[in-house]
Amino acid sequence: MGFKETGIITYEELLEKQLIPPKERLEKGPIAIAECPEEIPCNICVNVCPFNAIKMNKIYEIPRIDPEKCIGCGVCVPQCPGLAIFVVDLSKPEKAYITLPYEFLPAPSKGDRVTLLNRAGEPIGDGTIVKVWQYDKTWAVTVEVPKDKWFEVRGIWIQKK
Ligand code: SF4
Ligand code: SF4
Repeated sequence: MGFKETGIITYEELLEKQLIPPKERLEKGPIAIAECPEEIPCNICVNVCPFNAIKMNKIYEIPRIDPEKCIGCGVCVPQCPGLAIFVVDLSKPEKAYITLPYEFLPAPSKGDRVTLLNRAGEPIGDGTIVKVWQYDKTWAVTVEVPKDKWFEVRGIWIQKK
């Protein structure tokens, strides 16, 4: 079964669609991953990227992020209506940093401890928010996570403050 049946995309499926940056680039510093594997009529990410790093020839094509142009700024993260873009930073030795869109309450703050959620919404450990900013009503939250969980973590619950 694939993501169309399960609703959860796998690493292998993203690789096959050429949506995972090369390992060397992932380890160099933050870069966006658009987990947007279907041909849908949307090109918002293309237009909002200040670095012209997202390419699409026709509006229904899959967005392609240029690993040389993307600096991992995260501007695209809260502006994707599908909440499908994440920034991943694997440049540090023990921790990874994931910037993800967040639209729940309580409002996130730097320093908050969070429960890390996988793609199925299941708890898989704890992390800490290291950066927060907001676009319209969506937050972009950067979370420090165990490095080996970088691909799994795609959501958070904020623990009681
Ligand atoms: S993270 Fe920044 S540079 Fe990279 S694709 Fe998104 S908006 Fe563009
Ligand atoms: S804005 Fe989001 S949903 Fe639209 S094409 Fe880009 S990644 Fe896909």
